[in-house]
Amino acid sequence: MSYENALKKIIKDGKSATVGDVTALLGADAKKRSLLYELADSVRSDFMGDEVHVRGIIEFSSFCSENCLYCGLRAGNRVLQRYRMEPGEIIAAARDAAGVGIKTIVLQSGQDVYYTADVLARIVSEIKSSLDVAVTLSLGLRPRGDLEVFRKAGADRYLLKHETADPVLFAWLRPGTTLKERLNCIYTLKELGYQVGSGNMVGLPGQTIVTLARDIVLLRDLKVEMAGIGPFVPNPDTPLGNSVGGDVEATLTVLAVARLLLPRLHLPATTSLGTIHKQGRRMALKCGANVIMPNVTPLQYRRNYAIYPGKAGRELEPGANVREIQYLLEDMGRRMGEGYGHSPDYMA
Ligand code: SAM
Ligand code: SF4
Repeated sequence: MSYENALKKIIKDGKSATVGDVTALLGADAKKRSLLYELADSVRSDFMGDEVHVRGIIEFSSFCSENCLYCGLRAGNRVLQRYRMEPGEIIAAARDAAGVGIKTIVLQSGQDVYYTADVLARIVSEIKSSLDVAVTLSLGLRPRGDLEVFRKAGADRYLLKHETADPVLFAWLRPGTTLKERLNCIYTLKELGYQVGSGNMVGLPGQTIVTLARDIVLLRDLKVEMAGIGPFVPNPDTPLGNSVGGDVEATLTVLAVARLLLPRLHLPATTSLGTIHKQGRRMALKCGANVIMPNVTPLQYRRNYAIYPGKAGRELEPGANVREIQYLLEDMGRRMGEGYGHSPDYMA
């Protein structure tokens, strides 16, 4: 299908778009890409408004049992200094974030069974009962029973990126696991009533624009409420340290096409995009993004949550981080969301 016909079809009815249609858009030349960015920005404005939802992320443990080839937290990385935050420290960090106006706390870690379901449930329950915030968990794969316990404790959302829609690439990148297993966990989360975030990296070795088109179509078919789409940033302490990684234009194009296909999806301007380009988050907010996720982990731990080098915003306290975001948004004629920023589909 030609670019023009694919664009007409996607704008008219994203639900019927095929991988071929999406591929036609992802292959656009520079001039057509600019048009996609403008269209994505106006679709974002029409469907999601000018509010940008701020989710404060607390990276509470850098221990991980897994060995994902791309990630600095992988168990095989002996260089990384590991840390685990105490439950009281996690709750205090959430309180600090809520104190500067953040309405969603994201608790993220490596896949770390040291934190039992009961311990995590107590943390979630304490945050939910004492602070006026939504809670998102991003803990990797956990058994259904654990996910049930977290949900009962008050967790609102769960972030589990599918990473890549190519099952062969997935199995290579995440040894010992399968895409099917990850997708099954996403279905379980949906069944349990979580708002679910998924997403993928752009620029993985062996990935093509057809793979990326499959990523976007998969996000639609999973009916997720949020998608984190960011560049793969090579980490020298991992087996993929010498890879090229994702670039800004490719990432913005995937983001813009995702917005056209999925107008009511929450789409963050990712930290990884802000890491490979100083203006990355601003550019993403102009190409369909409506969420931003500042790091509110206590400063003494941040450098040891080294997924990839040079993470954007790593030296800022929560208050300074929020102020920087406010300046950015004011400058762009946008504003910080005042509510929890639940998914409009979920609310409906
Ligand atoms: N362990 C949990 C999991 O895997 O879902 C959550 C933590 S993990 C560090 C969060 C996300 O970091 C992953 O979903 C992956 O997309 C991203 N990530 C890991 N390594 C990366 C890299 N080198 N470049 C960009 N993103 C990366
Ligand atoms: Fe562990 Fe998640 Fe990193 Fe994989 S992506 S190594 S599961 S922290």
